[in-house]
Amino acid sequence: MMKTPHTDEKTLLLPQASHGYQFNHCKTVSCQHFGSTNTDHYVLQRSNPSKPILVCRECGAFPPLINNHDVDAEVTRLKQQQSSGLPACSNTECDNFALPVLTHRQLYHAFGYSGDRQRYRCKCCQTTLVDRWSGFNSKNQLQQKLLAMLFTGYAVRDICRRLNMNPKSFYDQLSHIASRCRRQLAMFDARLFKHTQALELASDISPLQPNNDNGVLWVASCEARTGYVVSQDLNYQQHEQETSHEHHDPFADGTRYMAPPAAKLVEPPLAPPQGLLAKIDAKYRDMMSRPNLEDPLTNMARINYPAKGCLIRPQYTVYAHYLHLSQLLQDSEQLSIFMPQETLLRSACISVFVERIKANTVHPIYIECDKEWQHGQPAGRIDIVLMGWWRDRWAFTRHDNISKGICHLGGEKDNEAFWLEHASHDAITAYQQRFQDQFNQLVNEPRRKLRPGGLLPLLDIYRAWNNLCRQDRSGQTPAQKMGLVTKPLTLEELLS
Ligand SMILES: [Zn+2]
Ligand SMILES: [Zn+2]
Repeated sequence: MMKTPHTDEKTLLLPQASHGYQFNHCKTVSCQHFGSTNTDHYVLQRSNPSKPILVCRECGAFPPLINNHDVDAEVTRLKQQQSSGLPACSNTECDNFALPVLTHRQLYHAFGYSGDRQRYRCKCCQTTLVDRWSGFNSKNQLQQKLLAMLFTGYAVRDICRRLNMNPKSFYDQLSHIASRCRRQLAMFDARLFKHTQALELASDISPLQPNNDNGVLWVASCEARTGYVVSQDLNYQQHEQETSHEHHDPFADGTRYMAPPAAKLVEPPLAPPQGLLAKIDAKYRDMMSRPNLEDPLTNMARINYPAKGCLIRPQYTVYAHYLHLSQLLQDSEQLSIFMPQETLLRSACISVFVERIKANTVHPIYIECDKEWQHGQPAGRIDIVLMGWWRDRWAFTRHDNISKGICHLGGEKDNEAFWLEHASHDAITAYQQRFQDQFNQLVNEPRRKLRPGGLLPLLDIYRAWNNLCRQDRSGQTPAQKMGLVTKPLTLEELLS
């Protein structure tokens, strides 16, 4: 009988590491093999497709596998997206790739002008580039009017009629505005990341267009107290991808690009349970029923796949979201990450920060509470309940029958009262909700269902406006509360 050549070479049973990243390991924080990449610690097999490929010998966990190279490549895509239109080295082979001139002056030489716009040369690879937005903005007035109307809920066709433009020039202007917004944000973001030693982030993930079932998910993170949005990403790219895959194969590079999936039978959702504990329990069962527990799209009955562009398996975008954040936040000595109960956020976060979680410098925390819960109340009596397959250790408290629960995913005990009073992901959840309310008409337009691409520039504009212009009840913007600036930016300043 012929033996297939590699079956006993254990190293081939895990997807290859990429630039030192190996995200396939035991993800049970309390297990002694947590984070281990030693293949002796696992039962590994690839011959029976109906069984998990990796099972931890110690705790029995069987985390789904992920292609490390694709996570890495997804970070590159997200960086490109965020610095799109900003002057930055465009050579993907270069060390300075996608590092904007505005925040990395030392990497570039000023290199003359093109018209009234500054030109630069990359010190590393000598590529030259022009800062398209460094000249005077002759469209400032028009763009202010356009934004004002968009923010007050006018339909695109009404804006076009009133400003005497056709839809194509509307979308062109929108994408110019988005580039200017990214340029403004890049300068503030750089200061934020440099000066913050202890940081608390709030993360959430939500469908971009909640009524559309088009598979586009939106992961976002902000500073938890001020609501300054530091990063937001979609598992969607606007341009077509040559090859996409119906099945996820973590051993094949490029597997993150998702082909339109066939419709499938799924259990109809049960009536939502009453009570916080029951809701959390139901959510655990719902997540365990996913064919891939890190991919929420795998138990959707039907996805209205976008007519243009390509969906990315959400676990790749979310791992990349945190990997990119971890690179930006290297200087922060203490980092807390508050999130709703969602295995995908948890897995990505603890896989990316595995070493820092072992060193207790990152605190990932689940928070769920009743709607009426008033943030900032001191915890009353605390009950501990172990929940879900992982026996996650939840701490609950209540006031007048209104409950809040938290779970420290890094395994910390004895600090529950502090986190129950203090931890909240409301700032980011409310931000996503406000976007969907504010642009309700655009987000839910019937033709937009299969064409989410038109919302991409709007997301960048909204993040800039939220951080720099939007004042809360105290009259302050998130950027002010972060100490990055002394007053709100006007629309005119945002666009200059
Ligand atoms: Zn384990
Ligand atoms: Zn370069």
